[in-house]
Amino acid sequence: MSTAEADDAGPTVADLGEEGLLAAIAPLLPQATRVLVPSGDDSAVVAAPDGRYCISTDVLVEGEHFRPDWSTGRDVGARAAAQNLADIAAMGARPTALVVSLVLPRATPVAWVQDLARGFADACVGTDAGVVGGDLSVGERVVVAVTVHGDLGGRQPVLRSGARPGDVVVHVGTLGRSAAGLALLQAGLDDRADVWGEAVDAARAGLASECLRIYRAPAPPLAAGPALADAGAGAMLDVSDGLLRDADRIARASGIVVDIADPDDDPDTGQAHDLAALEPIARLLREEAAAARSLARAWVLTGGEDHGLLATLPAAAGRLPEGARVVGAVRARCEGEPAGALIGGRVPDQLGWDHFRA
Ligand SMILES: [Mg+2]
Repeated sequence: MSTAEADDAGPTVADLGEEGLLAAIAPLLPQATRVLVPSGDDSAVVAAPDGRYCISTDVLVEGEHFRPDWSTGRDVGARAAAQNLADIAAMGARPTALVVSLVLPRATPVAWVQDLARGFADACVGTDAGVVGGDLSVGERVVVAVTVHGDLGGRQPVLRSGARPGDVVVHVGTLGRSAAGLALLQAGLDDRADVWGEAVDAARAGLASECLRIYRAPAPPLAAGPALADAGAGAMLDVSDGLLRDADRIARASGIVVDIADPDDDPDTGQAHDLAALEPIARLLREEAAAARSLARAWVLTGGEDHGLLATLPAAAGRLPEGARVVGAVRARCEGEPAGALIGGRVPDQLGWDHFRA
């Protein structure tokens, strides 16, 4: 099923036309609090009190990044917003404004697009950010292209290149849950159908639903970005392509080695918590115990799109910001050693997600 093929879903975007569609979604979109001239003119005007602004963009393509039979419009809107908002948080900034361009097939139900707008509003709750403009166009499949702006509030931007030997590596947010949710959907285990049955206890069904929810609409810890910056973060990014791959990006940009603690070596690390939680979810895929553990391990170490924040902090930084847990350490390269991420002191077999390889 494509977005355009929903039956009995009411009027389509072709029925309403561009002006009508805009009128149908505008009241549902989140409002930015720092907007000086709202949408309605040729361009919006947004305050940038810091004198600089962060800007980033990200796109979701139907069939590539989401499937309409797995995600509602509301999920897609929340995910498109969340992955952009996370990029601003990862600089140590607060998001201020989103600009959204939509490509829609003519047969897309208006209700789906309204749902998408509600998803944007969900993701912006608790922030100053809102949708201040965008564009509507027609095409063969849905494309949601978002540009996000953010304000540093006087902080120095936290780059990927500022990790130093002796730093601790911390993570805020969940790991591997989006990947677990995707695996459940790929196995036909969608919690919107009654698939768990009596064989699955409530705790496992609840966690499986959480994984599906995070896959559909991740909830990045946005407030942790500025908090980590204030705590002295030297390097930071949001984990979009997997813990190891994104740790490797920090390592290469900084010219150092990031050694991620192996959850199998040290069951007390933070990752082990996620690993232990995800093993029962892997068992739902009818995996034997050993295979389930290795699947859960792959989700935690290489699964992307939870959009938690990964940062390096000086070891002397003192108390960690709320929700932060230590997942590794930064050390200098040995002679001839390349910069990169290690897992438990070893070179990983696989880093994580690559958009062009898949
Ligand atoms: Mg990012």
